[in-house]
Amino acid sequence: MSDDIRTQIGLRPVINVSGTMTSLGASIVVPEAIAAMAAILPQFVEINDLQRKASAIISRLTGGEAGFVTASCSSGISLAVAGAITGNNLLAIEKLPDTVPDRNEVLVQMGHVVSYGAPVDQAIRLAGGKVVLIGQATSTHRYHMEHAITEKTAAAVYVVSHHVVDYGLLNLVEFVEIAHVKGVPVIVDAASEYDLKLFLSQGADIVLYSGHKFLGGPTSGIVAGKKELVRSAFLQNMGIGRGMKVGKESVFGVMAALEAWEKRDHAGIRERETGYLNLWKRTLDGRPGVTALIEPDPTNNPLDRMRVIISAPEAHITAWDLAAALGRGNPPIIVRDHEVEHHYFYLDPCNLHPGQETIVAARLTEELDKARASNEIIATPIEERSRHRFDGALRWPD
Ligand SMILES: *Cc1c(COP(=O)(O)O)cnc(C)c1O
Repeated sequence: MSDDIRTQIGLRPVINVSGTMTSLGASIVVPEAIAAMAAILPQFVEINDLQRKASAIISRLTGGEAGFVTASCSSGISLAVAGAITGNNLLAIEKLPDTVPDRNEVLVQMGHVVSYGAPVDQAIRLAGGKVVLIGQATSTHRYHMEHAITEKTAAAVYVVSHHVVDYGLLNLVEFVEIAHVKGVPVIVDAASEYDLKLFLSQGADIVLYSGHKFLGGPTSGIVAGKKELVRSAFLQNMGIGRGMKVGKESVFGVMAALEAWEKRDHAGIRERETGYLNLWKRTLDGRPGVTALIEPDPTNNPLDRMRVIISAPEAHITAWDLAAALGRGNPPIIVRDHEVEHHYFYLDPCNLHPGQETIVAARLTEELDKARASNEIIATPIEERSRHRFDGALRWPD
């Protein structure tokens, strides 16, 4: 019998060159976090004391005054917004989200209203927040924000992501400056960011991270920042936070992942990933209709990805058909295809087990050779792809 747990239970042994995706199980959890979770699972703990220990570690790593662990970064957005709306009023906390204090407006730049698998604005609405969009998709000016702040404004949310519009918007320093003049707290969604200190140092009042992305912790979210706001967010565990709870294993697992992050050989990992990228570049360079470019991360995380640009007339296949073929094959290779309608996808080297890079190279070669050998160009109309995008989800579980 295979020693891969996935094949034992009838799952496809996917290789992830897509990124830290919830749909693929996020990231490879670091051994320190796995050991911590196994150690604490059989024990009883006083959970708020465990969260107090987590607070100390989160403070040390982020520079925030306090912190806690929740179910996800998305939960962190909801809890932080709820905290900004209710403060420490326990009755208001119980009454969310349908009875909401008057001060419940939450400003967001229109170019930041993205989907990370669910809409950012929904995480705010779940907490009783009324989303006030400022600016237009590709422009926010100071006056948009200055005039949007009223006595009803509870918070302003700023999203850091490769998904957001990356020009024409207010940067975090300006956003904070404008909010703070009127006493409005700033909540930063930094789910996928490596830098644990930057956003608080730029003046954010609360910052949120995913525990299960680059940190390699269990599925979880980290809330960090000003003590009073963090406490108000934490108190939501007696309200809307209950449905977003984490157990002792996730709290302790994240604590271990954070400490492992401090000690991680970041340069060594970067070097290994660069090796993978160079291998793929050697594999792809010179192939008809294929251009392979190594590009830095768009939000300045210390990592590179490979952009694979496909010209269908020469490669005999479109970028999206190639991505689909890689995903259907054996083993399935899941590429980063958010922008595939522009005729490229990315290969992300951050979530590979050593040795998988050569399998990725071999599968790319196999599919490209097959396409080249075909007499017709494999070109599903892009509209077909978008028409059938949710077929699988809508048929689930059968
Ligand atoms: C991944 C992501 C989230 C969601 O994080 P979870 O921890 O999975 O809830 C939120 N915002 C951004 C920008 C993300 O990249």
